[in-house]
Amino acid sequence: MIFNIQRFSTHDGPGIRTIIFFKGCTLKCRWCENPESQSFDYELSYDRGKCIHCLECANISTNGEITLDNGKLRINRDLIDDPLRYRNICPTGALTVMGEDRSIEELIQEVKKDLPFFKKSYGGVTLSGGEPYAQPPFLFDLLAALKAININVSMETSLYADWKHIHKSINYVDTFLADLKHTDRAKFKAYTAGNLNRIIENFKNLEKENAPVIVRVPVIPHFNNTKEEMAHIIDFASSLKNVHEIHFLPFHALGMGKYGMVGKGYDFTEKFFRDDKELNDYVAMALKKGLKANIGG
Ligand code: SF4
Repeated sequence: MIFNIQRFSTHDGPGIRTIIFFKGCTLKCRWCENPESQSFDYELSYDRGKCIHCLECANISTNGEITLDNGKLRINRDLIDDPLRYRNICPTGALTVMGEDRSIEELIQEVKKDLPFFKKSYGGVTLSGGEPYAQPPFLFDLLAALKAININVSMETSLYADWKHIHKSINYVDTFLADLKHTDRAKFKAYTAGNLNRIIENFKNLEKENAPVIVRVPVIPHFNNTKEEMAHIIDFASSLKNVHEIHFLPFHALGMGKYGMVGKGYDFTEKFFRDDKELNDYVAMALKKGLKANIGG
């Protein structure tokens, strides 16, 4: 299942890219900017600002799934057992179903629309998420189909995945864009609910395979945004023989508004401010360690 396709991206890999976002993630990062990417299930997104209260959705709702209370539309998510019945119902796009089951053929047709742009810019396709490795059969079919038409593939991943799946994909992936969010196991666990050992192990396994990896570091206030923490991250990245480049990805809170739309709470409420000087300092630290370094991906 995917939740979005973004064409003409100039981020997340070389040249012009089509990004396919897989739905479902194995981590639960508290600052996640795409809350609609986390669940492996279909879910309804409701944008109150676009709603004209036409009640097209409420009229097909049974069992009180969607009701009008005091002039406000209420989505009773616990009662919804089939979100798909609301697909293409809303005339304004206020109510949408997040998640699409697309066939490999459909995705390849979509990708082929941009072949001329890929050729001119040395671009290709980036698989992102969510976590692409969380859907192995679908992922491998897609990778094989992309390889069959000679498409450059970047894999954006948390590396919080089974090594056997990552290993199986190596020959199909031109560049791994792999997150290294922290090097402290306890802090990583507290903010992502994941086990850092698995990720470190996968980085080391990719090094043994000499797979091309660019390390990506989301710079998150109160989590890893200190020189000391960043020095540990840079040290680890630069210790890997297959890593020559690191990207520092500035945090922004643009995803905050999306939480309410999919019925989730936003608990990353720590105050933050963006200071580009810090990011420039991290770039300078990485350069000193012999890595090519960028702000943004
Ligand atoms: S169909 Fe869309 S615009 Fe109409 S009430 Fe439902 S959410 Fe609002």
